[in-house]
Amino acid sequence: MELLKQRILQDGRCYPGGILKVDSFINHQMDPMLMYKIAEEFIRRFQDRKINKIVTIEASGIAPAIMVVYIMHLPVVFVKKKKPKTMENMLSTVVHSFTKDRDYTVCISNNFLTPEDHILFIDDFLAYGNAAMGMVELAEQSGAVIEGMGFIIEKAFQDGGNLLREKGIRVESLAIIDNLDDCKITVR
Ligand code: 5GP
Repeated sequence: MELLKQRILQDGRCYPGGILKVDSFINHQMDPMLMYKIAEEFIRRFQDRKINKIVTIEASGIAPAIMVVYIMHLPVVFVKKKKPKTMENMLSTVVHSFTKDRDYTVCISNNFLTPEDHILFIDDFLAYGNAAMGMVELAEQSGAVIEGMGFIIEKAFQDGGNLLREKGIRVESLAIIDNLDDCKITVR
């Protein structure tokens, strides 16, 4: 997605350890017009799939996901990173956070992720695929089918993309970063 690539090159910042900072337009301050275009592109790429629900993970996946469902008129549910005491029929799994370097338990209610669901999972970044594999596990527990996974940015030098594609999951990433060596952003 050309507009997104240009924005990453213009406003993205590189951090040691292979971290790309996009907090001026994606995951802290957000550009709603760019987010809307991102949603349209996700919809275009997955138009061949029968999807009845969007699932994302808090916090940074929520903005693109809500834009997608606003256009598609579908429900959206987000995986929570803290276990609420009041959640009914909780499904949970453990995910390792790349940016925070710690494990945490994520959860979703079986009331909102069911065997009837054919979902599109959306998130801001795909790095090692830990969050996405957590989603795979939750979908398996619930009986929901994953029709595809869409990421705003995939870092191809980390292994998540390979892992998911080898599992047969349809993965679409709107910008692919080939490397961040010497703190230079190389976009495919
Ligand atoms: P993964 O689970 O694929 O290893 O990492 C994906 C999650 O970690 C994303 O939800 C995102 O929040 C965070 N993340 C991974 N890499 C980056 C990065 O380079 N920059 C930012 N801002 N977040 C990242």
